[in-house]
Amino acid sequence: MDILQIASGFTPIPSRLSRLAELAYNLWWSWHPAAQELFRAMDGSLWEEVYHNPVRLLREVRQKTLEQVARQPDFLRRYHAVMADFDAYMAAADTWFSRTYPEASNGPVAYFSAEFGLHEALPIYSGGLGVLAGDTCKQASDLGLPFVGIGFLYPQGYFRQQIDADGGQHAIYEKLNFAEVPALPAFDRDGREVVVEVQLADRTIYAKVWQIQVGRVTLYLMDTDIHPNAPPDRHLSARLYGGDREMRLSQEMVLGIGGARVLQALDIHPSVWHVNEGHPAFALLEYARSLVQTGKSFQEALEEVRATSVFTTHTPVPAGHDAFPFDLIERFFNGYWDALQLSRDEFLNLGREDQPWGAIFSMTVLGLRMAGHCNAVSQLHGEVTRRMWQFLWPSVPVEKVPIQAITNGVHTASWLAPEMKALYDKYLPPDWMERVDDPTVWQGVQAIPDEELWAVRCQLRCALINFVRERMRAHLQRLGAEKWQLDSIASLCNGEALTIGFARRFATYKRAYLLFQDLERLKRLLNQPGRPVQIIFAGKAHPADDPGKEMIRQVYRRAKEPGLAGHIVFLEDYDMNMARYLVQGADVWLNTPRRPNEASGTSGQKAAINGALNLSVSDGWWAEGYNGANGWVIGPSSDQLDPGAQDWQDSQTLYRLLEEQVIPMFYERDAANLPHRWLTMMRESIRSIAPTFSTARMLKEYIATMYMPATMHVETAR
Ligand SMILES: *Cc1c(COP(=O)(O)O)cnc(C)c1O
Repeated sequence: MDILQIASGFTPIPSRLSRLAELAYNLWWSWHPAAQELFRAMDGSLWEEVYHNPVRLLREVRQKTLEQVARQPDFLRRYHAVMADFDAYMAAADTWFSRTYPEASNGPVAYFSAEFGLHEALPIYSGGLGVLAGDTCKQASDLGLPFVGIGFLYPQGYFRQQIDADGGQHAIYEKLNFAEVPALPAFDRDGREVVVEVQLADRTIYAKVWQIQVGRVTLYLMDTDIHPNAPPDRHLSARLYGGDREMRLSQEMVLGIGGARVLQALDIHPSVWHVNEGHPAFALLEYARSLVQTGKSFQEALEEVRATSVFTTHTPVPAGHDAFPFDLIERFFNGYWDALQLSRDEFLNLGREDQPWGAIFSMTVLGLRMAGHCNAVSQLHGEVTRRMWQFLWPSVPVEKVPIQAITNGVHTASWLAPEMKALYDKYLPPDWMERVDDPTVWQGVQAIPDEELWAVRCQLRCALINFVRERMRAHLQRLGAEKWQLDSIASLCNGEALTIGFARRFATYKRAYLLFQDLERLKRLLNQPGRPVQIIFAGKAHPADDPGKEMIRQVYRRAKEPGLAGHIVFLEDYDMNMARYLVQGADVWLNTPRRPNEASGTSGQKAAINGALNLSVSDGWWAEGYNGANGWVIGPSSDQLDPGAQDWQDSQTLYRLLEEQVIPMFYERDAANLPHRWLTMMRESIRSIAPTFSTARMLKEYIATMYMPATMHVETAR
């Protein structure tokens, strides 16, 4: 496919660089720094202006600039090197997957997800769920696993966050111009653009399909903002998690049912259907319907669906599970149950969850009933999840409830600072990137000398502090700050000070307020002579979450108080770009969830591979990641206490850890001003966390315990 014939509006590209467009349209660049540096080298300030989006760069770059770089030998050399790497990657026949499973069937894993967090230039994610999905796609590509993603290309994405002078959060929605993102229309075998249709109550909705290339993996993303749809329906896919219950149900029907029809329209026959969180669970109904249509009974269809499908649940917080009133489901699915050869009641029972106020249709129940392979996202979350949904298997003891646990990980190449990568390139075995999940590879970090490790740490901390100052300047300028206020930014934060990062969704159970329980004690510990400490906060609250927004307001206001000002900052508009600065630059990564509400969490894993030390409640992944020598546990955190008492107890433990261990260890320096004990703990943290909490380990576990058993079934069924 010649991209330049489909994509329009590009600055004419000199023939010597003709493949830049191809490179821009494959998100392979998002985890290969040399490719990003190539784009940056064309026009550094434009690269920042277009927010690291190469498609926009190629549209907006001046012709003269392109012609200039096309004559620079150094640029051409880098261009050819990047293209050679890209070609070798894309063409490799000898992948981990083909070596490990030479007999595997050809049908891909079809991965359905409401959000995909691939890069800041593509804002179709809200947080951890999306980033996990994005990291999973990249890892599938790296391993050579046949894999396609199904979701939405939201024209307005998730909101951008602005904070007013009072700390109030404002949600800004910007319309994404699809010509400016690395997405192209999808075409079927006959060369026609793919449009699918879904019946919603009394009307038909159409969705156009877009295609995004992520290395060897393809994402098919739907958009309902197209002509035959009436205006309200055109907005159906406008935003991630927007609208009322009816809008949400409509979205999820398009995601699941429409998504299944995308596969059909493209003649893709998955060997595994993976439903990521409840939102796309209707896909399994549509899969069953297609089987019933071929003459099978519902029971036979259900058995086949169960054998070949995977469902992952992502939260132990009850409100985090999507559910709909029965009457709404009835209105929207009227007639659909006939096609499944089910009665109304049999159909409703597929998602039935009885609440004190009546029965509801739960997407998680539907997923758990329809998928034969179910999992939670950390070992602790597995235990909580089996208890939570035991009622679906009344005759099974809780430990036998068939929901296993596969702990989340992060895509190492996407989150690792280039400076850290250079250290690993020097001290780990040459093929370490292909073996990131192999613990023996990481023994090599023991050989990194104190001076080198510390030099990189300080360099990354300074990069973060510069980023903080730039962002604060832009923020204060927008608020109309006076000159003296802008001048004071230079003294905001300190490149040498112990820097603590706290960035995540502002949901109340994450307890961003925990540090502020005793203000005087906090001020003392931030301001010890010769031992300054600074804390950088960031995160969005869901626009409908008033307590979450109130928590932001409080942190923002506190950051201006005497004794805290200059030591505490709240950065607006947390996204993947900011996340990279934070996880790469922080010395300590703080996490204070109310146990056991954090299903997994992954930001602490990103921080660890960059040399930060985790200081966290023993919850989610940290409950299994902490080994006594690789960071600190804020605990024991008792989930038996009432919330107020639990908060108080955890805050006391946190202050004590900071006062007695974290701060003294950071400032304990040898003659060369190196914190030897700290560096020892850093190496232990990297060694123990990097291999285990990688998507390489995670996805191989999905393949071995969920995907391959499901694939095998298809093989024998044929
Ligand atoms: C990694 C990441 C998350 C997930 O972090 P948690 O550990 O779940 O808080 C959320 N948002 C962004 C932008 C991320 O990069």
